[in-house]
Amino acid sequence: MWQRILLGLVLGLIVGLVFGKPAASLKPIGSVFIAGIKMLIVPLVFVSLVCGVTSMRDPAKMGRVGIKTIALYLITTAFAIVIGLVLGAVLQPGAGVGMEAAKAVAPKAAPSLIDTLVGLIPTNPVAAMAQGNVLQIIAFAILFGIAVNLSGKYGETVRNGFEALAEVIYKLTSIVIWFAPFGVFALMAWTAGTYGLSLLLPLAMVIAAVYVGCILHALLVYGVALRVVGLNPWHFYKGVAEAATVAFTTTSSSGTLPVTMGCAQKNLGISKGVASFVLPLGATVNMDGTALYQGVCALFIAQVFGVHLSGGDYVTIVLTATLASIGTAGVPGAGLIMLSLVLSSVGLPLEGVAIIAGIDRILDMARTSINVVGDSMVATLVAKSEGELNLAVYSSGRDAVGELEEEA
Ligand code: ASP
Repeated sequence: MWQRILLGLVLGLIVGLVFGKPAASLKPIGSVFIAGIKMLIVPLVFVSLVCGVTSMRDPAKMGRVGIKTIALYLITTAFAIVIGLVLGAVLQPGAGVGMEAAKAVAPKAAPSLIDTLVGLIPTNPVAAMAQGNVLQIIAFAILFGIAVNLSGKYGETVRNGFEALAEVIYKLTSIVIWFAPFGVFALMAWTAGTYGLSLLLPLAMVIAAVYVGCILHALLVYGVALRVVGLNPWHFYKGVAEAATVAFTTTSSSGTLPVTMGCAQKNLGISKGVASFVLPLGATVNMDGTALYQGVCALFIAQVFGVHLSGGDYVTIVLTATLASIGTAGVPGAGLIMLSLVLSSVGLPLEGVAIIAGIDRILDMARTSINVVGDSMVATLVAKSEGELNLAVYSSGRDAVGELEEEA
């Protein structure tokens, strides 16, 4: 499947660059695909998180997995911002970019962190689902799952029902994903056709810094982390390729979640329990790519406007970008809105957001891919440490699944 999706991506790029603006008319095909995966987000997050929590009946285990997951999410995110800052300082993407690039786009206000935290508990879970408020759905699902675990024989019935429901939703997911190569093709043709090369050249250095940073983060941080626990990173990269490609074109971690869950279980051999707990959480709170991008952009904007940043400012950027990436929703363009939070924390001009806005989708593609790959990496580490990683599947990818199925 991932080869077909990659083929769709490359063909879309070629069609977009060759035909330019007219290629943008392919967008509706992409929109149908995006609508299909968005349709899955609310049921998938809710049902799979409930299953994730109820698969860990032992509260000690749930606490352990929860702490490992959050700790790994925070550590990898901090590494990502540091890489972003180093690249921003070394490549100097803002040098020579004129301020006239800042068109009069009014930056949107980012919600305050306190508001986000207080708003975690939904006063009405049905409303949270209707509005697609993923953070609230997560909070409700975790509490609901814990209640199921505490409800004895009645809880058992509910647990079985949810497991069956989860299977049906995974099946629905695979139906939608079948359409991915076509959707990806159309989205790529639209993006390449709309932006073209000429629009991108003045800001080529920012784009390069974000892309190089994302690749370095995946190779260095993820590669080393996997090696440390004795896993071959190449199997991992191959296993997540499908999710990374879908994230690249849809620019939505939440939208990619169904594919990420599939890759984690089928290609990487992560147990269903760990995947259904770690990944839905990660799609909303863990955004390494977004954090890296905010590091690069903060330095870029400082350079464009000639603002000098002190050592303390760098520390502030690392802290606020970590928090901002947690508060970023897994939807297209959310990172740009949260960028204003990072900029204002060190007094950088918010007009900088307007310069980035013109090319944000191109940056969003790279950062969303890394967001999704990062979630999968943490899920792999957590599964390995819990003895819930099927090494036969991990090491030989999909073929192993086929063999296992044949044996069964
Ligand atoms: N589009 C990103 C995601 O869904 C969030 C962002 O804009 O940084 O992961």
